[in-house]
Amino acid sequence: MKTMASYYQERTDRTFNLSLQTITEVWAAQEYFRRVGKMLNQFGSYANKKVTLNDKRLQLQKFIDKYMPKPSDRIFGTRHCFLIKGGKAKGGEDEWMSQSPLVRGYRMPTDYTGTDKQYAYAHSAKYPNSGNKSGFGRLGNKWEPFNVWEEMGVRKWISMLASKVVDHETHEEIPEIQPECGDILKQQVVTPPETFAKQEEIGSTLVQITKQEVELKYAYRECVNDYTYGKDLDRFFPQHRHSCLFPTTCEFLPICYGQDWKGDPVPTQVREDPIGSGLFTWRVAHHEQERKALNADN
Ligand code: SF4
Repeated sequence: MKTMASYYQERTDRTFNLSLQTITEVWAAQEYFRRVGKMLNQFGSYANKKVTLNDKRLQLQKFIDKYMPKPSDRIFGTRHCFLIKGGKAKGGEDEWMSQSPLVRGYRMPTDYTGTDKQYAYAHSAKYPNSGNKSGFGRLGNKWEPFNVWEEMGVRKWISMLASKVVDHETHEEIPEIQPECGDILKQQVVTPPETFAKQEEIGSTLVQITKQEVELKYAYRECVNDYTYGKDLDRFFPQHRHSCLFPTTCEFLPICYGQDWKGDPVPTQVREDPIGSGLFTWRVAHHEQERKALNADN
C-alpha cells in the first residue's frame, strides 16, 4: 500500500513493474516463509528428541503442521494498492496544499434566504464535458473552495462522495455529486495489475545490493575515521548531480554546494562539520528491524 501524488496508468504501472521494491519485497516474503519453515523443522526435531509422551508429541506435530508454510504459500508477485493524494498547490507564503477531492471540495450557495445557507457541492473544479472543444469544463466563479475538515468533517464528506442515485434514463446507479466524473472515490484508490516475480532478477539484485552494502560499510568506516570534506567523500561517494533538485531538493545541498535549500549561502562550517554546524543531525532509524540491525552492528 503506497501513497502517490498522481497516477498515470501506463507510466506509473511500468515504473512499478521495474521497481526495486517489486523484487526486494517478494524476496522478503519468500525469506519469511523459508525462515518460518526452518525454525519449525528445528523445533520439530528438538521436540522429537526431548518429548517422550506420545500424545504430547502429536500435539506438537499438529502445531507444526498448522504453521508450516505450504507449497501454496509461494510468492507469485506484488500487487500494489495506491492511495492518490493529489498534486500540491501553493496555499500561502510557505504553505502547500494537497489537492485531493477527499479533503478539499467546492460549494456554491443555492439559497440566500435565512441564516442557514444551503449549498451545492462538487469535488472537482475540472470535469469532463463533451460539449466543449477541450473535452472539459470548469466550475463557474460562484463556486468557492473549502477544506472538508472545516466544512463538515471527513466522514460526512466521504459518505456524500459515496452516495448514489438512480439515473432516470439508464436506470443505473450513478454518483450523486458530479456524476460526469464517475466514481471519484474509486479513482483515489488504484490497484494496477500484479507484477510477477522473476527469480533470476531476485538473485542478481541480491548480489548487487550486497556488494553495494559491503562497499558502503567500508567507505563509511574510512570516512568516519578521518573525515575531511572532499578527501574520502570524493573517493567513496561520487556526486550524482542529476538528483540535486529533482524530484525534490536534496537535503545535502548545503554540504555539496555551500548554499541552503533556497539558494542562500551557508558558512563553510556546514561542509566541514555538518553535525557541529547544527544544520544536520544523525539519522534516527525509523523501523524496529533497522534499529535491531544497527544495534547488532554496533
Ligand atoms: S546535493 Fe545531493 S544529489 Fe546533489 S550531489 Fe550532493 S548529495 Fe548528490
